[in-house]
Amino acid sequence: MEVVDSIEALAKHMASARARGGSVGLVPTMGALHKGHLSLVTAARADCDTVVVSSFVNPLQFGPGEDLWSYPRHPDADRSQAESAGTDILFAPSTAEMYPNGQLLTSVTVSHLADRLEGAARPGHFSGMATVVTKLLSLVGPCRAYFGEKDYQQLQVIRRLVEDLSIPARIVACPIVREADGLAMSSRNAGLSPPDRDAATVLHRALTKGRSEVLAGERIARAVGEAMAATVRGEPRAGLAYAEVVHADDLTPASSPLVGEVRLLVAATVGSVRLIDNLSVTAR
Ligand code: AMP
Repeated sequence: MEVVDSIEALAKHMASARARGGSVGLVPTMGALHKGHLSLVTAARADCDTVVVSSFVNPLQFGPGEDLWSYPRHPDADRSQAESAGTDILFAPSTAEMYPNGQLLTSVTVSHLADRLEGAARPGHFSGMATVVTKLLSLVGPCRAYFGEKDYQQLQVIRRLVEDLSIPARIVACPIVREADGLAMSSRNAGLSPPDRDAATVLHRALTKGRSEVLAGERIARAVGEAMAATVRGEPRAGLAYAEVVHADDLTPASSPLVGEVRLLVAATVGSVRLIDNLSVTAR
């Protein structure tokens, strides 16, 4: 595995990968790798000749007062995990390398899709994320880019961005990897105290409650959302941000009666950690 921290070195590696004519897969991450990230690398390894993993804690997607400075960073562990999972090139640039001019005059904004839910709670987050993902897609020029369904709204924003800007990369969605008790793996879970770690399972419990309501015949979206919200409210260590039932593609509130596939989305703060999770359910 090659570890590169400069755009110039990355460009050289990508030029020779293209010259060899093989396919290229990109897995963008913010580091602090766990099994969720590694499942994306494994999927890329199975599909592509060259696998590039980027590890960059992107300041643009953190708001003032968010956890940019306390976000976990484990560059040595990331290196060995990325290598064992089959990465060819680990791109780990500094902030100065990615943003040499300091403040950007150019940014990528995906309206509507990025305005609700996480976008409403975290103004500027999706624009910062879309800007860095656009840069990474342009630097790596991948045939395929791998994203987790864990960040479902992010996935839909990226799908739309790639379509709108005609970026020639196929977006591959990978399923959520969970701990044995249902908690979705996340770099942020490391910031949970032991009692908060137990309480954090409430997100998955709320989603499974919502799903069982639908499977038991509930067809009113608001009732399903209320059942999920009540589950989160039942956990004293958790603060509910939202519990919603949305159309799976455009993330608008699902119409009632529910028909076909919808996404259940939950966000909550446990301790000082903001967590998100989601689940698909089909109303038959
Ligand atoms: P992050 O480092 O949190 O920005 O995540 C990088 C990528 O890994 C994103 O596409 C995430 O959706 C994905 N990811 C993070 N956690 C998981 C998980 N538990 N299961 C699957 N994918 C994940």
